[in-house]
Amino acid sequence: MSQIHLDTAPSCMDDHDPDSLPADEAVARVRTSLAPLAGFEQVALRSALGRILAEDIRSRIDVPGHTNSAMDGFAIKSADIPTDGARELVIIGTAWAGRPFAGECHTGECVRIMTGAPIPAGADTVVILERVEVKDEQIRIRADNKPGQNARKAGEDIASGDVVLKTGQRLLPAHLGLLASLGIGEVKIHRRIRVAFFSTGDELHAIGEPLPEGGIYDSNRYTLYGMLMRLGVDAIDMGVVRDEPKALEQALMQAAGCADAIITSGGVSMGEADLVKQKLSALGKINFWKIALKPGRPLAFGRIENAWFFGLPGNPVSVMVTFYALVQPALKRLMGEHDGAPIRLRMPCTSKLKKRQGRMEYQRGWMERDEQGQLCVRKTGPQGSGILTSMAEANCFIVLPMEQKNVEPGAEVEVMPFSDFV
Ligand code: AMP
Ligand code: MG
Repeated sequence: MSQIHLDTAPSCMDDHDPDSLPADEAVARVRTSLAPLAGFEQVALRSALGRILAEDIRSRIDVPGHTNSAMDGFAIKSADIPTDGARELVIIGTAWAGRPFAGECHTGECVRIMTGAPIPAGADTVVILERVEVKDEQIRIRADNKPGQNARKAGEDIASGDVVLKTGQRLLPAHLGLLASLGIGEVKIHRRIRVAFFSTGDELHAIGEPLPEGGIYDSNRYTLYGMLMRLGVDAIDMGVVRDEPKALEQALMQAAGCADAIITSGGVSMGEADLVKQKLSALGKINFWKIALKPGRPLAFGRIENAWFFGLPGNPVSVMVTFYALVQPALKRLMGEHDGAPIRLRMPCTSKLKKRQGRMEYQRGWMERDEQGQLCVRKTGPQGSGILTSMAEANCFIVLPMEQKNVEPGAEVEVMPFSDFV
């Protein structure tokens, strides 16, 4: 007789579903199905902000281009540093940033030098202004100086030929500056991908319409719009589609005709799945998944004509969580962006968290410093999959692994800050 471990035996108190796909596996399956889309643009540096680089960038110059001074002071020969006591050197000129000293520095001489100015021929060391006594056209230096100090060597940041940025890099302000410092004014980037999205549901109404009994405003198209815009895609808003096979088919075919990817919300839960399932299976190649993720269990993924399809659940927080956990990495892959796992931090949780085993959970949290300056997190409110207020108050997800049970106050949890939240 086989032994049953109480810990792993299914019970009504857990969320185990043998047919559910672990969230990490779903992400891996989606990512391996996809490849970066073809299509590139050559654009000026400023237009490349937020876009994805489609080439490796090699420097054609040394940075800095010449050995220069890190401080204001006097350039000297290191051999002139006295071993003890002090020594006098004659000032023979001045080197400015952008106006180098043309002559050479010999033994017994020094050159007044400004930050960023090339170190004159013959000199190799800079004594800072505060460390010398200046009298007439002479300075007095002491033994407390080191050879080579305060000199920034040519090529110490970047050597000519170095790869400074790799293909797949999202270009942020520092990258634009780096490219500019190399004199590169244009780069090759991936084209923007086109993503069509719509909401499904007979109960949904647009802002401005009076709400009938049982009606609700469509909020998913607004959260999706926001996340898509921050990701940097061309977002095509196709409105609300009624729960009718014909309307759904029309919308999907129209979307597949103009977009690289289609995102829908609603209509994939148990009660509604059959209708949508039939439609989608007839139109394309679609997998229906139950993902071991809370919120966000039902999800459809596949292809309709030339477009990738993501059918998200309808509940407002499920939409955001499944987008963040699954759709966003998939779209990044289509965009050509290299994979950068989001930052996860461990910290104590000051609230009690309800959690059943069997599903990974993304709970909404607020991360801050306590009175001792230590990072800690608390939940922001009720965690139902339709409750957007606790999402709007959050600055992070508290990520609880599948086998985690209730979290008692003070226990450590893993937190994913929203900093790169799309
Ligand atoms: P469904 O997945 O279509 O069964 O929807 C699940 C829940 O999410 C239902 O309570 C819907 O009313 C709600 N819902 C679906 N779509 C939206 C939407 N676009 N905006 C706000 N709530 C929605
Ligand atoms: Mg629905």
